[in-house]
This record gives sequence, C-alpha cells and structure tokens, in this order.
Amino acid sequence: MDCIFCKIANKEIPTNLIYEDENVAAFNDLNPQAPVHFLVIPKKHYASLSEIDSKEAFGNIFSAIPKITAKLGIKEYRTVVNTGADAGQTVFHIHVHVMAGRKFNWPAG
Ligand code: AMP
Ligand code: ZN
Repeated sequence: MDCIFCKIANKEIPTNLIYEDENVAAFNDLNPQAPVHFLVIPKKHYASLSEIDSKEAFGNIFSAIPKITAKLGIKEYRTVVNTGADAGQTVFHIHVHVMAGRKFNWPAG
C-alpha cells in the first residue's frame, strides 16, 4: 500500500521521530500550524478513526501523548483528529495532531 505515514513508521522515509515505541511513532508536522505541531500515529495502518477497532489501538495512540508532552515540557495543547475529507483529513492513515505554543480559537474553523 502506498501510504506515506506507513513509510515513515517503517522507516522507508527517514524522519526525525520525536517519540517511538512498539506501537506508535510521533514526528513534527511538515507544515506546522503552531510553534509546536507534531503528529502521533500508530505503526499499524488504519485509514481513519472510523477503522479503529480496539481500545488497545486507541489507547496506544492517546496514551503516548502525555508522555511526549511531558518530555517536551508542554502543559497546554490542542489535539485534533480529522476524520474524512470534509473534516479536513488529507492523509488517510490515522494521526492525532498535537499543537502548542499559541492560543487556539474555539470553535475550530
Ligand atoms: P490531515 O489534514 O489531518 O490529514 O493532516 C495531515 C497532516 O500531515 C498535515 O498537517 C500535513 O502537513 C502533514 N504531513 C503530510 N505529509 C507529511 C510528512 N511527510 N511529514 C510530516 N507531516 C506531513
Ligand atoms: Zn498507513
């Protein structure tokens, strides 16, 4: 399958990972929308949140976030998961955006 985030996760595309464990990887967004903007992905391919089929998969992704933010010394941050094109999803391998370093508006645009 031709999936850019699978290639990052299995290191076919060399990427500076800011966090990695058995199940999850995190790396800086190519087009950051905040002073800190990284993505957390499962190493296993799921096209979107709609395909997540277990608490374990969900937990692996989300439980990595406080570890990474603690390591970076970040206390306040925005997390976003876009699901489907209308929601703004452009890469169809689930990823959680984690953004920090500025004030965020609500509701999101
Ligand atoms: P979304 O629009 O929610 O699907 O988010 C996809 C995100 O992936 C965008 O913020 C892109 O800037 C980012 N992105 C796409 N390709 C790469 C890449 N090779 N490395 C890092 N971030 C990427
Ligand atoms: Zn993938």
